[in-house]
Amino acid sequence: MLIRSVDVWHHKRLEKNVDIWIDEHNIIHNGSNAPNAAQELKHDGLVLMPAGVDPQVHLRVPGQPEKEHPGKALQAAREGGIHALLTMPNTKPVIDSTETLDQAARELEPFSQQTGVEVFLSAAITRGQRGKEAVDFKLLAKHPRIKAFTDDGLGVQSDEIMHLAFAASADTGLPILQHAECSPHPGVIASGPIQQKLNTPAYPEEAEWQMVERDLKILKDYPEATYHVLHVSARKTVELVCEAKSQGLKASCEVSPHHLYFGSEDIDESNTAFKMNPPLRDQAQRRFLREALADGRIDFVATDHAPHEISAKSQGLLQSAYGTTGLETSLYVLLKLYAEGLISPERLVNVFSHRPSHFLQLDEAYGHIRYGLPCHWILLNPKTDRTIDNSRLLSLNHNNCFLGQVLKGEIIKSSALDSAKIRS
Ligand SMILES: [Zn+2]
Repeated sequence: MLIRSVDVWHHKRLEKNVDIWIDEHNIIHNGSNAPNAAQELKHDGLVLMPAGVDPQVHLRVPGQPEKEHPGKALQAAREGGIHALLTMPNTKPVIDSTETLDQAARELEPFSQQTGVEVFLSAAITRGQRGKEAVDFKLLAKHPRIKAFTDDGLGVQSDEIMHLAFAASADTGLPILQHAECSPHPGVIASGPIQQKLNTPAYPEEAEWQMVERDLKILKDYPEATYHVLHVSARKTVELVCEAKSQGLKASCEVSPHHLYFGSEDIDESNTAFKMNPPLRDQAQRRFLREALADGRIDFVATDHAPHEISAKSQGLLQSAYGTTGLETSLYVLLKLYAEGLISPERLVNVFSHRPSHFLQLDEAYGHIRYGLPCHWILLNPKTDRTIDNSRLLSLNHNNCFLGQVLKGEIIKSSALDSAKIRS
């Protein structure tokens, strides 16, 4: 298939008006050597870019079929231009042993093959995520699908465990992902009109950055360790990570699409998808997160796709479970920021694909458009309006805070379904 005048977005440069063709193996070629018989696709304003990599997803495998169906989640990922992801270990049972890693890998593999979305695993930092006893990092690091350690859903409160985790990271080369939340703290939503209306204590930003501050102090003892802060919500957190980077420490952070798009002023009280952890903070914080993503102080975007069954989300903002889904909306939020002039195309590729793929130590088929070589790509129209409609969402549960929003973008075609073929 020959496609004329495509703009190709890479993480460091742009190519304008390139003719490309796609062969039967779904490999992209520069158009000059297209076979004469190629079928031509006529479409104005198309963009070719590397497919997305999402380093923070709750596939809820094993043991939580009421929250998500892995086949549906991976279809949702493809719909959102995401072709590789890292799933979180706060499951039933918690992924904290070789057996549970094997179980998750075994249950996910058929859906990964069906959809062509590669799934990597993370394991807990503490046994059962109880925060008391560290896992056997060395043993678990040998598993072929593991890419990180995290107690996501809970912050690691113990200094001693963080010492062990960083020592293990230095040893194994795997990153430690922190869900930064000092507990207990009083609130479930951040200060703002809805928090005041509900007359409930605010979820303080200190709960986040004080844990990061503690972690970075410990990290100084482990210059070879890799530390990453999941889903930042507060300016101070990002500033602490930047300071650590400037001291040569291997620290990084990510932001989730909902924190880029909404502030606490935007919370719709009737939609419990607006309850997430960390919470949406005020517009000044949201503006800061957007700027920090655009200028590189925040390293990349991760969805924190967190589906829940209806009963867990139908108890009002204060009592319902935390989380919004995000796999099939993340790209379209970023394309909206691009349309508004808030991020450059190169930066969009960087935060959605290139940087997370490096962070997870994936091969070069991710994060790059490589002419004549296997790679994971999406071909899209970045300017199409996209209304997020309940009936179009593919994920099992639809607790998505973007319902009704008009975002941007439409995928026209994407690379082959069979990721194993792409690897070989
Ligand atoms: Zn988390």
